[in-house]
Amino acid sequence: MPEATTTRLVACPTCRQSIAWTTDNPNRPFCSERCRMIDLGAWAAEDHRIPGEKALDEQDPNSYRKDPDDWEE
Ligand SMILES: [Zn+2]
Repeated sequence: MPEATTTRLVACPTCRQSIAWTTDNPNRPFCSERCRMIDLGAWAAEDHRIPGEKALDEQDPNSYRKDPDDWEE
């Protein structure tokens, strides 16, 4: 099945820079691994206080999964 040819742009949640949502970017929706790690750190700092807060309704939820390997209970 052919992919859509239109490149989708998303704003990096950390620095708000517009980035192309492509499979070439393993850090999507972040612009870089740095921003991804910053976000993970900020989230961890919240100590799970707002687990229901999400601001990603416009993005494919199936494409935004934090790597299960990063989770430690
Ligand atoms: Zn960024």
